[in-house]
Amino acid sequence: MSNEREQRKCVIIGSGPAGFTAAIYAARAEMKPLVYEGMQPGGQLTITTEVENFPGYPEGITGPVLMEDLKKQAERFGTEVRWGTIEKVDFSKRPFLLTDESGKEIMAETVIIATGASARWMGLPSEQEYNGFGVSACATCDGFFYRGKTVAVIGGGDTAAEEAVYLSKLTQKVYLIHRRDELRASKAMQQKVFNTANIEMVWNSIPKEIVGEQKGFAKAVTGIVVTDSVTGAEKRVDVDGVFVAIGHTPNTEVFAGQIEFHDNGYIKTIPGSTRTNVEGVFAAGDVQDLHYRQAITAAGSGCMAAIEAERFLA
Ligand code: NDP
Repeated sequence: MSNEREQRKCVIIGSGPAGFTAAIYAARAEMKPLVYEGMQPGGQLTITTEVENFPGYPEGITGPVLMEDLKKQAERFGTEVRWGTIEKVDFSKRPFLLTDESGKEIMAETVIIATGASARWMGLPSEQEYNGFGVSACATCDGFFYRGKTVAVIGGGDTAAEEAVYLSKLTQKVYLIHRRDELRASKAMQQKVFNTANIEMVWNSIPKEIVGEQKGFAKAVTGIVVTDSVTGAEKRVDVDGVFVAIGHTPNTEVFAGQIEFHDNGYIKTIPGSTRTNVEGVFAAGDVQDLHYRQAITAAGSGCMAAIEAERFLA
């Protein structure tokens, strides 16, 4: 069995800016990296619109195009990109054993974890009930369906602000519903929100229930009930769609018990490096970054991980 296992110098798990930047560097260092693309090839940037803060694009670039370019750049130097997910890892001894969803086993001398983070949900039963029928976590993917309609965005961070501004261009009106009385988003994004005429802030409001109706065979959202966090009063906001933008959870489940995490599930790296507590396993991008979570910082740490993996092998 063991001689059927694929042998690799470097396996990169995840295909966002961290994964592909690691791949570019690892490929150029002749490590012949293998990238497992994961559930969402290209990562979170593939569900965003304009990226205006990635250096080198004075006019901005769309997330999907940026990711396609990074992939091509990695492939140009000999990276193998494979569709699929790693479902099991054994980091107890080197080389590390990785198993993908088809049962294929790979022995890897080094592993770079770049699995990123996924959108978080509020946890309301009605949110699940209407998911795909008016509830979404991706304005870029689903905003089109709400042209000329009224929608709510939940959250107060940069993602919520960006989604609200994006949706304001498509829809008639956007309610930005936030549980406190000030936004967490950067000042620049706050200004954009406040300067957009068809975005209305709904402050101090905690979503309680998403309401809707049966329309033929499908369901449709008609509103959202919120509780005032100061007075406790309830009110209903009439909307045709609800976009949840309340942050992300790191994609680390498959590494549980194999590697050290912080309490919140993000992978622990040795400060100033991408090294984990397992020698030969590195973590880059959002999966280990609680603070910056930007495409450019993910790319930067992907570069670090590849250099550290190369030095480790040397
Ligand atoms: P954040 O964690 O920054 O914000 C999450 C927001 O959702 C907060 O306002 C939080 O409220 C609210 N929230 C959390 N849980 C709930 C809940 N259960 N019910 C209601 N509201 C809730 O996440 P983001 O995704 O916005 O941003 C993540 C990181 O990515 C940040 O560092 C951000 O700066 C960055 N980012 C940068 C962008 C850019 O530069 N172009 C674009 C998008 C994101 P509260 O404030 O009360 O905690």
